[in-house]
Amino acid sequence: MGLVGVAISPCQPSVSGVRRGQGGAGPSGLGQLQQEIVACRACPRLVAWREEVATTRKAAFRNEEYWGRPLPGFGDPEASIVIVGLAPAAHGANRTGRMFTGDRSGDWLFASLHRTGLANQPTSRSRDDGLHLHDVWVTAAVRCAPPANRPTPDERDQCLPFLRRELDLLTSMRVIVALGQFGYDVVCRAIGVTRRPHFGHGVEAAASDGRTLICSYHPSQQNTFTGRLTEPMLDAVFRRALELVAT
Ligand code: SF4
Repeated sequence: MGLVGVAISPCQPSVSGVRRGQGGAGPSGLGQLQQEIVACRACPRLVAWREEVATTRKAAFRNEEYWGRPLPGFGDPEASIVIVGLAPAAHGANRTGRMFTGDRSGDWLFASLHRTGLANQPTSRSRDDGLHLHDVWVTAAVRCAPPANRPTPDERDQCLPFLRRELDLLTSMRVIVALGQFGYDVVCRAIGVTRRPHFGHGVEAAASDGRTLICSYHPSQQNTFTGRLTEPMLDAVFRRALELVAT
């Protein structure tokens, strides 16, 4: 697996990392999907929210140009491990234009990926920060930042086909790590997990095609501040994913 970062310009969506055609990806595959995602306006409430946040901005970021659009996944198109979160954060990925980049959840996620050898650096601050993921693709169940981090069931269902197509195109994928109950539920529907165990940190479920789904508590501030999720707990999930892809 190579070290591949997929960057998309805020002005002109491009998928240079994807166009290399690795892992079954190409202009008609992941690249095409990413362009469709970035252009999507199917959920009126989310379109209004993501654009309002991008206009009003947080005081700390008032001099930055927000992305303000849907977020495609990014990482290694030949990844064995796919990480699925809930949705972009209003002032995180909705600002920076890259999943989990520029917020506290991302700080935890990418630090853990770095400790476990899956990222070249522990931080993720902007689309051009030099981050490269090794054998990992990062995406989310819903592509637009939702108010209060809560997409409606209709919005979740509207966005589900994007995740289904993305997972189908990531043909080297063997393990999916779902961050949080919401991501777990959506992934189960996307890949057809019928015998679904109750969500819990470290719980595993098998898809009918032999792929494994691992649950993790979401690295949200609510979980990390309270100690519900610790660094060793998050690292253990990625170490388990590495074990599974090595067998
Ligand atoms: S949440 Fe998904 S389906 Fe809804 S507007 Fe955003 S990209 Fe489109």
